[in-house]
Amino acid sequence: MEDMTERQLLETAVQLAETNAATGQRPFGAIIVLHGRIIAEGVNTALASGDPTEHAEVQAIRAACATLSTEDLSGAVVYTSCEPCVMCQATGVVTNVERMVFAASSAEAAEMGFPASSRATGMQGQWRKAAPTYVVRGDIPPTLAREPFAAWNARRTTGSVV
Ligand SMILES: [Zn+2]
Repeated sequence: MEDMTERQLLETAVQLAETNAATGQRPFGAIIVLHGRIIAEGVNTALASGDPTEHAEVQAIRAACATLSTEDLSGAVVYTSCEPCVMCQATGVVTNVERMVFAASSAEAAEMGFPASSRATGMQGQWRKAAPTYVVRGDIPPTLAREPFAAWNARRTTGSVV
């Protein structure tokens, strides 16, 4: 695990997202890496729970904090299947996450059926200007980054929605 590349870490997050979509949940997954090791993972469980704050990144951060018995994730990096929304970015900031690396962009997510509100998009743009290196796109092919959304859309079009 110590030898995993950024690409492999992103693939892990994308696989979590794809598996989550296959179970009828939204196609988002994230992992937390600290000192080269994956210490926590999370997937979007908002549909199952009815809790709209259960985004993959938030879930992964909650799990990491619970595992380490701390609210301080200094040095940790979030690898996520999709560009984090403002709630997830804020959760990373308040827990001292070092940075967040994503696979699919918000624009790609929107194209695949998950548009953000204009207000959220506007805030995201402002935050990017304020902290341009905090949330960055990782090294992963766009086709691979889109796979969780494809799995979600395939499941919906075949009528096997939960
Ligand atoms: Zn989010």
